[in-house]
Amino acid sequence: MLVILLGPPGVGKGAVARKLKDAYAFEIISSGELLRREIRENTEIGRQVEPLVSAGALVPDDLIINMVKERLLTRGNIILEGFPRNVRQADALEQILEDNGLQLDLALIFNAPEDVLKTRLQQRRICTGCNAVYHMINCPPIRENICNHCGSPLTKRLDDDEVLFRTRLERYLSSSSPLIDHYRDLGILKDINADLPLLDVYYQVLGSNVKFTQESF
Ligand code: AMP
Repeated sequence: MLVILLGPPGVGKGAVARKLKDAYAFEIISSGELLRREIRENTEIGRQVEPLVSAGALVPDDLIINMVKERLLTRGNIILEGFPRNVRQADALEQILEDNGLQLDLALIFNAPEDVLKTRLQQRRICTGCNAVYHMINCPPIRENICNHCGSPLTKRLDDDEVLFRTRLERYLSSSSPLIDHYRDLGILKDINADLPLLDVYYQVLGSNVKFTQESF
C-alpha cells in the first residue's frame, strides 16, 4: 500500500506516519528527514541543501526526486511524507510508479487552523541522536530536554521559527495546494481534520481506507 500525506508544516503528518509505521510496518519516506540526515552527516548534498532548508525554501526538484526514487523501489507498504511538494514532483512520482508497476492507493490531506500549526511548531523538539519528535506540552520527554529513547539532547529544527513559519506556509499554499485538486480528481484524496488530539486524528486516518481494516495489504 502506498500512501501520500499532504498538509502544511506543523499539521502532524509525521506523528501519524510514525503511528502507522508501528501498527502496519509501513516504511516512512520523509523527504524533509532525508534532507536533514544529509545535513547532519555533512555530505555534499547536505552542504548544497542546508541554506535552502534553513531558509524554508524548496530544494531542487531533480535532487529530491532522485532521493525519493531510490527508496520507493523497495516495495512493501510505504508512506510518503513531504513529497510530492509540487506538480512537477507529483508527475515524476506517477512516472516512477508507472514504470515500476506500482500504484498510489491513498492521499490524505491534513487540515488545521494557522494558529494551531504555529503553536505546534513552537513546541516541537527533535532528538539530535535518533530523530524522535517531542511536543513540549502534549508529549514532553521524561527528563528535561533529553531523549527518552537514546539519551541524546533535544533541539529545535533549523526551520521551526516564527518568521520562517510564514515563508513555509506561503510556499505550501502556492506549491502544494494544486496537488489537492489533482489527487481529488484521481479519486484517492481523503480530508483529515488534524485539529484534534493525535489519537483522534489517527483513527480518522484508519477510517479513511478500507485497507486499514484488513489484516494485511
Ligand atoms: P519538512 O520536514 O517536510 O517540513 O521539510 C523540511 C524542508 O526540507 C522544507 O522546508 C524544504 O526546504 C525541504 N524539503 C522537504 N521536502 C521537500 C520536497 N519534496 N521538495 C523540495 N524541498 C523539500
